[in-house]
Amino acid sequence: MSYHRISGLLRTAGGNDAGRTYRTYDRAQVQRQWDADVARSQHEDGTSYSGEIGMLAGPIQWHDEKLGSQGEAWNWIMRTHEKFEPPLAVSFELETEVPQAKLLAWRRRHQEAYEAYQRKAGEVVQRALTSGKSKLLPACGGCGSRLSREHIARGARGWVSDGVPCPVCRGNLLSETVQRRLEALKAKHEGRRDKEPRGRKTGKYGWVVGGTAQS
Ligand SMILES: [Zn+2]
Repeated sequence: MSYHRISGLLRTAGGNDAGRTYRTYDRAQVQRQWDADVARSQHEDGTSYSGEIGMLAGPIQWHDEKLGSQGEAWNWIMRTHEKFEPPLAVSFELETEVPQAKLLAWRRRHQEAYEAYQRKAGEVVQRALTSGKSKLLPACGGCGSRLSREHIARGARGWVSDGVPCPVCRGNLLSETVQRRLEALKAKHEGRRDKEPRGRKTGKYGWVVGGTAQS
């Protein structure tokens, strides 16, 4: 049976969401595996405010909700479990695993598209800041400062897709026209973005077990 840790995603004062995913629907098997995982956590993390599943020993309370994904199941546990209660389990539909190569290819495409968008936004901003007869930018709309084109353009490297702040008043030094161009670039980028690949539904179910562990 495969399982993996999903603990430690969110920390709250005095409690840490901790749990495990089990890719089987067999409750007896899940309870046995859970008891073993709890015992291992108690051995590794201790039994006092560890914020880990060692704090969630005992018979599991089952909720056969058949949720649509592991993520939904995890959110359900976080929403529903009260500290000091026994561990909760909620069922969710299993998906086939997405091949690692497919996931990596998606991540690479995603990253490249984002960098291309940022690069293009940078070019638009540089052109706007450096083209003009005067050595000074038009007066800042916020505070009226006249700033050196060269100085501001040199500082406006990298992440400028949300604008270029005035060093005096933090107002945006870009004109409305340039801001609209950047918004159009952003919309185009977001419109093109493909969704992270997901597995196919299998008609089979697994369980997420966990809760808020005292920490
Ligand atoms: Zn200003």
